[in-house]
Amino acid sequence: MKVACVGGGPAGLYLSILLKRQDPSHDVTVHERNPEGSTYGWGVTYWQGLLDKLRACDPESAEAIEEHSVRWNEGVAHVGDLATRQPGDEGHGIGRHKLLELLAARARALGVRLEFESEVSADDLPDADLVVAGDGVHSALRSRHAEEFGAALTPGRNRYVWLGTTKVFDSFTFAFVETEHGWIWCYGYPFSSEQSTCVIECAPETLAGLGLDRASEADSLAALEKLFAHILDGRPLIGRAASDGGSPWLTFRTLTNRTWHRDRLVLLGDAAHTTHYSIGAGTTLALEDAIALAEALRESTDLPQALARYERERRSALLSLQSAARYSAQWYENLTRYIHLPPEQMFALLGQRHSPLLPYVPPQLYYRLDRAAGRLEVLRRFKRWLGPKLARGAHARALSARE
Ligand SMILES: Cc1cc2nc3c(=O)[nH]c(=O)nc-3n(C[C@H](O)[C@H](O)[C@H](O)COP(=O)(O)OP(=O)(O)OC[C@H]3O[C@@H](n4cnc5c(N)ncnc54)[C@H](O)[C@@H]3O)c2cc1C
Repeated sequence: MKVACVGGGPAGLYLSILLKRQDPSHDVTVHERNPEGSTYGWGVTYWQGLLDKLRACDPESAEAIEEHSVRWNEGVAHVGDLATRQPGDEGHGIGRHKLLELLAARARALGVRLEFESEVSADDLPDADLVVAGDGVHSALRSRHAEEFGAALTPGRNRYVWLGTTKVFDSFTFAFVETEHGWIWCYGYPFSSEQSTCVIECAPETLAGLGLDRASEADSLAALEKLFAHILDGRPLIGRAASDGGSPWLTFRTLTNRTWHRDRLVLLGDAAHTTHYSIGAGTTLALEDAIALAEALRESTDLPQALARYERERRSALLSLQSAARYSAQWYENLTRYIHLPPEQMFALLGQRHSPLLPYVPPQLYYRLDRAAGRLEVLRRFKRWLGPKLARGAHARALSARE
């Protein structure tokens, strides 16, 4: 089969690896419009579940990804001058540049043709049995048929900027800072032994009040370095590599599509769906899309059938994460509902921000209910643990009484 993957992001590159592994006779080309080694963004987070899946699909690239990732297992929240530290699930971070470099090297080693500085036009698709639109959220290939795909882009309310820093955080770090124009906050996490990611977010009124909507990128960074000096320890924030100097602030758009394939064209990764960055799942979902599409193509030689199966499977797998991402984005949009709670409550509800119930229950009541449910769960687990032991003890006593 001849396959053209448009876009050399995680989705397109990983699909090319899996297809070539599956059948070395597949003719697979990845077209990436940017030069090799240049991409946007900083580090991305992922969790153990993804590594397990990658290991099962292609142990070589999984090992390389694991080797170049960093780990943390605590979260810290700074609210004004107060800080709360809590243990959490083990998180992993890897630089986007490094991830793409590793995937490109593996794809090449398997015989995938990588064509950089090769921008594909929606009006002139490559000659292939299957064209994969892995060309990101602004996908030109999808936009050309936006109505048929039923594409819907819903903008969030807040503004954000994706930055790097040479401050290496030792845990997943949140910092909320109050200004005279409202709150502004940062999520920071390490992605190498030298750098971390900082995503900074605030409401549009705060951005305008601070003058950041009109500031150049250099002035924005200087102002943010002052606001977040207490977590950066004097380290600089770093902006875009290919900056035009203008405002770097963006609005996140949640993308959905009514259908994900049309004739020989199929959507993959961010071109098919986006989930708010505050749940840190987009890259994982893009890689899982690639796994599902490769699997569907292996299972069925009938292309429409394989594409329908891929879409069905991924659409249903995404439902709960899309909901979690929507609620998480809304939590930050309604920050003033939570930010003045006592620190341990605020931190607990930050961890519960994906909950569909939280927006409808007074936060302190939700916190108490959640704690009570947690205690009940501990009791339930204790009962489950104790039950068989009591039963075994009673059985042994009955046996010895009979002897
Ligand atoms: C602020 C922020 C933080 C994030 N943090 C995380 C995180 O912590 N964890 C996580 O899992 N995800 C995170 N994400 C999401 C993640 O970056 C994306 O979901 C992921 O990159 C999607 O991969 P993709 O391959 O589908 O698309 P992309 O990575 O966007 O790749 C698309 C590629 O296609 C190329 N391209 C576009 N058009 C064409 C064309 N016409 N011809 C040829 N090439 C083309 C582009 O240059 C690009 O290289 C974050 C996103 C944001 C915005």
